[in-house]
Amino acid sequence: MIEREKNIKEKKVSVIGGARSGLAVAKLLKKLGADVFISDMKKIEEIKYVRFTTSELDSLGIKYEFGGHSDRVFDCDFIVISPGVPSNADVIVKAKNMGIKVLSEIEVASWFCKAPIVAVTGTNGKTTTTSLIGFIFRNAGFRTIVAGNIGSPFSDFVFDADEKSVVVLEVSSFQLDHIETFKPRVAVLLNITPDHLDRYASFGDYILSKFRIFKNQKGDDFAVYNYDDEIVQPYVESLNLVKMPFSVVERLPVGAFIDEGYIVLKFENKENRIIKMGELKIRGIHNVYNSLAAALAARAMEVKDEIIRESLKAFEGVAHRLEFVREINGVKFINDSKATNVNSLWYALESFDEPIILIAGGRDKGNDYSKVYDLVKRKVKLIVAIGESKEKIYNEFKTLTSVVKANSMEEAVKISFENASPGDVVLLSPACASFDMFEDYEHRGEVFKKLVNEL
Ligand code: ADP
Repeated sequence: MIEREKNIKEKKVSVIGGARSGLAVAKLLKKLGADVFISDMKKIEEIKYVRFTTSELDSLGIKYEFGGHSDRVFDCDFIVISPGVPSNADVIVKAKNMGIKVLSEIEVASWFCKAPIVAVTGTNGKTTTTSLIGFIFRNAGFRTIVAGNIGSPFSDFVFDADEKSVVVLEVSSFQLDHIETFKPRVAVLLNITPDHLDRYASFGDYILSKFRIFKNQKGDDFAVYNYDDEIVQPYVESLNLVKMPFSVVERLPVGAFIDEGYIVLKFENKENRIIKMGELKIRGIHNVYNSLAAALAARAMEVKDEIIRESLKAFEGVAHRLEFVREINGVKFINDSKATNVNSLWYALESFDEPIILIAGGRDKGNDYSKVYDLVKRKVKLIVAIGESKEKIYNEFKTLTSVVKANSMEEAVKISFENASPGDVVLLSPACASFDMFEDYEHRGEVFKKLVNEL
């Protein structure tokens, strides 16, 4: 690590993408003495999450260009690519063709991390599981840093961690695409289903990118993985690591599973019932999966079962994921704005026994809705379609249930409320990205909650 710090001094680094993690890594490298240049295709006022001005960059001594990439980008020792920038962006392709190394922000931050890293990836459940793991470690008395894709860049916190800390990191496939030496002590792979097909050439490429989380792990590092996922299971079992599988379907010889309604941890032939599934505050079978994964990650770091039990019992979940908003006249309103793909919609629908009025739609990422046809037919009494994909949603579901189109979230909430009867659930679970109508999923969820609270 010391070597790395020495090596960074005087190095020229170009950071492509100047949003949250781009800025964080730029500051980190600058602090270590590098000559840092940020380049973003967007004008500074168009960048999401920008909380800085050019005069702040000036005072930090960070150089920059906004509104396009010039050739100045290529005058560097290596490039750091922000997760928001596609790997096939012209500037990246050109850099690679010139032989310039392109690294992700977590790769660079990890060079300076003294603490063991618990890294969490998967198509769905990353934020929930990362938060839950962080919650368990805190309860266990670890100095815990929760960072990454969850909204607080690793680079901002890496110097807060010492040998006795734990870093729990939510990791996206985009970050994994450009790692080189990044090596978690515990890697958690929750599931893989089609997503981000707008940024990967194929589903196969996306899968390979998720598998990279194990790339640098060695024999005594831990792989926590979903035994029920037919993509994940065979791959992880081919690796030479300490395997910690979890399943809700099978009793496993080792790992975490369900027995008579209990979450069970089994190691060295000793079975420990941790908690009844029904005692979890977070709802739905997907959250049982997340809880199993979190329990195993904690076990890998030798957290006692008692602490795991208390933490699983107390954890209330994260905003915008099946978040209860309000009940009015017996109608429950649920904000699942973070459901940005079909799989998370599937789990949302699966989580309710009540009749559902579903608000869905937004920016489509190549969605195949056939997986939810059956659930929609059985549980959804009305779909209110919003956003760019409202026509597609209308056409997909019109033969299965009633579908109406709304022109705004306000209209969607109004229509839903007018059509709801006591005992119904109004569920915002869009299965799409939010960028057509909102800044991001959080903004979408906040708007929904505000409208519901005004009813
Ligand atoms: P991510 O960070 O991977 O996007 P989140 O925890 O933010 O995951 O959850 C995203 C969406 O997926 C939410 O709608 C949530 O209810 C749903 N979800 C959470 N965990 C899982 C899981 N294990 N499998 C499928 N869907 C899940």
